[in-house]
Amino acid sequence: MDDLKKSVSEKMKNPQWKLFFAIMLSVIFLFIWGRLGNINDRKEEFTISYSQFLEQLKAGNIHSVTIQNLQVNGELAKETSVELPAEQGPRQVKYFQTFLPSFQGEDILTALREKGVLINVEPPEKMSPFWQVVMGILPWVLIIGIWFLIMRGAQRVQGGPGGLFSFGASKAKLHNVEKPQVTFKDVAGLENSKKELEETIEFLKNPQKFKKLGAKVPKGVLLIGPPGTGKTLLARAIAGEAGVPFYSISASEFIEMFVGVGASRVRDMFKKAKANPPSIIFIDEIDAVGRTRGAGFGGGHDEREQTLNQLLSELDGFEPHEEVIVIAATNRPDVLDPALLRPGRFDRHVVIDRPGLKDRKAILEVHVRNKVLGDQVDLDKLARGTPGTSGADLENLANEAALIAIRKNKEKIDMGDFEEALDKILMGTVREETISELEKRITAYHESGHALVAHELPGTDPIHKVSIIPRGMAMGVTQLLPEEDRHYYPKAYLMNKLCVALAGRVAEKIVFNDTSTGAQNDLKEASSLAEKMVSQWGMSDKVGPVNLGRAEEHPFLGRELALPKRYSEDLAWLMDQEIRQLIVDAEARADEILRPKRNLLDKIAESLLKEEVLEREDIERIIKEAKSL
Ligand code: ATP
Repeated sequence: MDDLKKSVSEKMKNPQWKLFFAIMLSVIFLFIWGRLGNINDRKEEFTISYSQFLEQLKAGNIHSVTIQNLQVNGELAKETSVELPAEQGPRQVKYFQTFLPSFQGEDILTALREKGVLINVEPPEKMSPFWQVVMGILPWVLIIGIWFLIMRGAQRVQGGPGGLFSFGASKAKLHNVEKPQVTFKDVAGLENSKKELEETIEFLKNPQKFKKLGAKVPKGVLLIGPPGTGKTLLARAIAGEAGVPFYSISASEFIEMFVGVGASRVRDMFKKAKANPPSIIFIDEIDAVGRTRGAGFGGGHDEREQTLNQLLSELDGFEPHEEVIVIAATNRPDVLDPALLRPGRFDRHVVIDRPGLKDRKAILEVHVRNKVLGDQVDLDKLARGTPGTSGADLENLANEAALIAIRKNKEKIDMGDFEEALDKILMGTVREETISELEKRITAYHESGHALVAHELPGTDPIHKVSIIPRGMAMGVTQLLPEEDRHYYPKAYLMNKLCVALAGRVAEKIVFNDTSTGAQNDLKEASSLAEKMVSQWGMSDKVGPVNLGRAEEHPFLGRELALPKRYSEDLAWLMDQEIRQLIVDAEARADEILRPKRNLLDKIAESLLKEEVLEREDIERIIKEAKSL
């Protein structure tokens, strides 16, 4: 009941609800007024029988009648005692009502006229005064009601949480102040980043300590790292460690359809956080609003830029007592507006890279904490088999393995489940498909080509698995996994990579004297790698050691369009030649390796056709056996 009262009183604060209640009250008032009016108008009227009516007529005691269809309402000339059909005993009747058996037209009218009765005729089914009032106001009620609904709908589209004009209020989420759940214990690895952030936590916990010595703590921390590496998790953990409120928003949520909404959301969120110090504001994907100004299509005053300007002015506008730390995350620091990064704004940069071997194991440990594992699960081996993955990928791996174990009705998750989950993540989901024998053979030789060249070339990543089971978009996969985390890629390594990529197509050519569309992805991968080698990494002697940014991903079309090309047409032509040459050379090299080893190629392909999946050890065994013959 209290809840009801509360919700009604809250609703009444809203102007829309006030209007709605006013309309409802008016309708109710008109209804009651209509009914009262009706009652007042009504005189005491009795229903008499048709014979009694004729009797009174004959006696000349009828003063006037109103005829509507077969209904007659009338007034007697003088009050008379009449025996009423429905009631006991006689009643004094002045006004009456009766019904004609059928309309005798002229007969009854002649009789009435002869007696000098005042005759009134009404059109059939005339509305009562009450209904006339209702029908009069109903269209207005409908129009106002529809307008009310449209306004509410429009407001919802604007995403505003409250009243009609409150769409500027932020969608900031306030996390539990008393019980921050995530702490640094939930963030595996990232020791360096944690260390850098300790000072921030200390400041949030004990701002006085810093003030006493007149030290200023950086108010803006920028977390930089690839997707899924734990930036959001780390920001939450800071709030958890310091036990302060955590206001978070994704920068893309600032931007709405209306210009000015983003800016007002920024203002609103900072206002809320400042009112509740010490606190943390977390802005995810800051590049959505923070990219360099003047890069958009909409001129210098588009919605994004207004939002960014507001953000900049809020970052400057902290009073000494406002202990608010603003943490932002991005994976594109290169596109951020320099004004955001200057001292006093986001000047503390914490880089969060993909986890190394030790961290991957630690992350896996965090995510298997509440899972039931079999004895042989080797997290070390799993960590070794997942180079280049992010924390989010590893969380997904642990979860997929659990789901696979559940699907198989197991009590515990074993190593097989983890390996199946890893294959699914690395190579895609198995696709049930009927494949012709010829297609299977083509796939087997294609994958054997990749595998054999990878095995023969020194310095390539070792083979993890070769499979001709269709997965994801591919008909077959050859998975190579580096043994350790790489930070540099030497030219020789990349040339080998190109060669391995083209080896599938070369094997098809050698065996079937034809090529197929199966190599599309290999060619795409090889071309993109060769383009980067030539235009970004200075690996072509003819083009020279220059970075021309040709193969850069297009982060934002606006910026790319605004940039002039940094190379001449001649150089562009030369780059094309060099890219092509790298690929053609790689193909020739793969051919050189595979052609003399046709028997090895046949052996691996045969095994693949039989087993469908071969591991690194299988390939090594097949090659060793074939060589010893
Ligand atoms: P994005 O850039 O896409 O927003 P992000 O870097 O913010 O990604 P998070 O959302 O923090 O990534 O991480 C995704 C998930 O990955 C987390 O929920 C967490 O479970 C897991 N994760 C990532 N890094 C770690 C880590 N170091 N320790 C434990 N779990 C991690």
